[in-house]
Amino acid sequence: MQIKCTQCGADVTVQQDETFIECPYCASALFLDKRKVVFHYLINSNFKPNEAEGNLKRWMAGNHTVKDLDQKAQIVKNEFYYFPVWYFKTKDSSGDKIFLQPAASTSVSEIKKLQIPAGALKFYDKNVHNDHEIVKPDVLYDSAQSWLQGSGIDLNNVSEAALVHIPFYQFNYNFNGQSFTALVEASSGQVYANIYPAKSEAPFKILFALSIVAFIVTSIICYVAGFALNSGDMVEALLTAEVFKVFAYGLVSVPLIVIAYFIAKKI
Ligand SMILES: [Zn+2]
Repeated sequence: MQIKCTQCGADVTVQQDETFIECPYCASALFLDKRKVVFHYLINSNFKPNEAEGNLKRWMAGNHTVKDLDQKAQIVKNEFYYFPVWYFKTKDSSGDKIFLQPAASTSVSEIKKLQIPAGALKFYDKNVHNDHEIVKPDVLYDSAQSWLQGSGIDLNNVSEAALVHIPFYQFNYNFNGQSFTALVEASSGQVYANIYPAKSEAPFKILFALSIVAFIVTSIICYVAGFALNSGDMVEALLTAEVFKVFAYGLVSVPLIVIAYFIAKKI
């Protein structure tokens, strides 16, 4: 079968079932998806396994995950691979935009939000990379294109389409008897996870409700005291109540702040 090189336009002969192609004339890496030929890029990894794990641990120690997840989680597996995504560049009056769609099935859809730095795209070279680290695409170009159209993009504005293999460390870890997956993108070190042991918001919501009740009760007590001390003089009674409220609110805030502090430390 013959295809046309996207770069130099030469006719290139390909074997049946061959999808990763190098143009013999201009050395461009190409990807053949049925009859559609696109550039085939790869982004290089800048992280060693232990450095990627360091990034994961820092993310686990961060604010949105449960307290001490970095110490309590047991990492059971760390796997390195290049994951394929469809890369679309669109050009319109507002400038260039890049859209990514996973080209293989993944539980971590967050990778759509990935930022690909300009200049990071290198032609795929099958002589450099281990074949078993390259995840083969199983989402066709056509379905990626319909996804793009479905998200409101005029396909006439697509100025470039390519298949890009992005380096990832996939970590599997256990926490509280459940297993989780997190990805560390190995060119930037960014962590991606859809589902993770998140901080519970319930204790803060309960505290918030408790605070409202506490301030209402405090106000009532202040008015009762104001009227009790200034019987007959309405204006004086209200003024006294306002002065009491300033101090009483301050006093009530102290235990609430202390409780909030302990909740934040614990979860
Ligand atoms: Zn070529």
